[in-house]
Amino acid sequence: MYGPVSDLIPSSPVFEMYPLGFLTMTSYLEERGLKVRVVNLALRMMNERRFDVPAFLSKLNPKAFGIDLHWLPHAHGSIEVANLIKRIHPLIPTIFGGLSATYFHEELIRYPAVDYVLRGSSVEPPLYKLLTDLASGKRPTQVPNLTWKDNGRVKVNPQSFIPKTLDYVDLMPEHLIKMVFRHQDLQSTLPFRGWWQNPITAVFTVKGCAHECVTCGSSRQACTTLSRHDQPIFRSPKNLVKNMIDISRFSKGPIFLVGDLRQAGENHASQVLVLLRKANIKNEIVFEFFGMPPLSFLEDIDNSVKNWSIELSPESHDENIRSVQDKTISYGNTEMEAVIQAALKLRCHRIDVFFMIGLPYQTQKSVEDTIHYCEHLFKNTDKRLSCFISPLGPFLDPGSWGFEHPEQFGYRLFAQTLEEHRQLLIQPSWQHILNYETKWMSRKDLTLATYNAAEVLNRLKIKYGRIDKVRGEKVAHRIERARILQRQLDVFYQKGKADPKVLQLLEGEINEFSISTVSDKRELFWRRHLVNFRIIGIARVILAHLRDLILKTTHSFLS
Ligand code: SF4
Repeated sequence: MYGPVSDLIPSSPVFEMYPLGFLTMTSYLEERGLKVRVVNLALRMMNERRFDVPAFLSKLNPKAFGIDLHWLPHAHGSIEVANLIKRIHPLIPTIFGGLSATYFHEELIRYPAVDYVLRGSSVEPPLYKLLTDLASGKRPTQVPNLTWKDNGRVKVNPQSFIPKTLDYVDLMPEHLIKMVFRHQDLQSTLPFRGWWQNPITAVFTVKGCAHECVTCGSSRQACTTLSRHDQPIFRSPKNLVKNMIDISRFSKGPIFLVGDLRQAGENHASQVLVLLRKANIKNEIVFEFFGMPPLSFLEDIDNSVKNWSIELSPESHDENIRSVQDKTISYGNTEMEAVIQAALKLRCHRIDVFFMIGLPYQTQKSVEDTIHYCEHLFKNTDKRLSCFISPLGPFLDPGSWGFEHPEQFGYRLFAQTLEEHRQLLIQPSWQHILNYETKWMSRKDLTLATYNAAEVLNRLKIKYGRIDKVRGEKVAHRIERARILQRQLDVFYQKGKADPKVLQLLEGEINEFSISTVSDKRELFWRRHLVNFRIIGIARVILAHLRDLILKTTHSFLS
């Protein structure tokens, strides 16, 4: 029972979403003439009970398989997929990548099914070089950022590919459309379950971060260690808006700008808004703020973008806890509330405020007070504002301050190596999957505090009209069932080993009550259109693809 660790993100607790980097890698390789196919195995398994993974894999015959180990909850599945691939295709290389793969690269490469690990947050050119070296039979001694095995000996090539800007690669959604068409397979390419209902897309405005949140594996210090850049790497305003225009040609869904635009400076952020105004994109644009912007910035957004929302993550109502969590920010609640009020006076469609459980110095009482603060926010705003709370889980990020210096921040870790995390992932319930507890809350306290907070927040949302009564009652029922299940699983755990038969009996419920327990996932959805996609844009790509195919066939026939 993975618990409500993914209620506030688009995917389910198995984190079936693939990282956005899959799209930039696809664009980079396809632009250079290679053929790429993205297969979301997790999603296929979730959507089709009878989906036969080995049978599916055995029909594939690529030059290499790429497997992501970006989010650590993939620690178990990614290596199991690699094992399967090696059983079926022992001679086809497997390539891993992602931040968790980077952190654990020397341990990961020692698994027999893992051939290559690409390190860092940007690996498109090294991946291309690796693939071309493999195709020409060259040893990959010159591939930057690569950890590999040379006759069984681990080699760690220098991490020398560190881009200065993200402009070197675009998302280019048309490659995905061509991929779907080429393989006649839409199901495998979808990013996460429920994407049709919530067709959100995202553009990275930045990789890395200027902030130092204790729990985050993308903080400045984590990036310095993992990706070897001590400053964030930005996408230029021109390139960012170009990518947004490209997405808007195919999708009417919201476009999430990952990263606070203002991190790159006032000038950069203003330029983005000027270009957005010219671009006249109709999609909802979602801005996130890590610090509080001046109120004039909100007016500038309003003057530049028709449909917009904002996301704020104060993490705790308690300003002291907030300042320990991120020593680089210093905004108070009064300042945040001023931003909220200003946004509500403008055309801002929606304000989501996120809080977290599992922070340094946070107690159960403090979590309760956070929920009281949510009521204060509800009372003083309208239905466009909602609050969310979730546990930090399942893992404190490797590379983060909290993970690297647990005692300094009051954390106690239950896993440090990759294998230890793999073992945590097969524990029966999320209380025992969490890789940490704090000096102020044990793992049991963290789960209790989560369900208590969720219950009260849910009641408040009904009271203040943030969700309707029927939906709220369903969430309340789910919280209650989740609590009961959690207790049942704890009893097994105390007995030392869970009885597999009982676990099997509970499996359906376990899956059901791991989703939408702290809040209904649909609360995160943006308003939908009757048709969420731009059919003409998609048809144009397909026609261009067909034309290319015909030209190629005619050319090879004539020659
Ligand atoms: S959690 Fe903090 S450090 Fe991590 S990306 Fe967000 S603001 Fe940056």
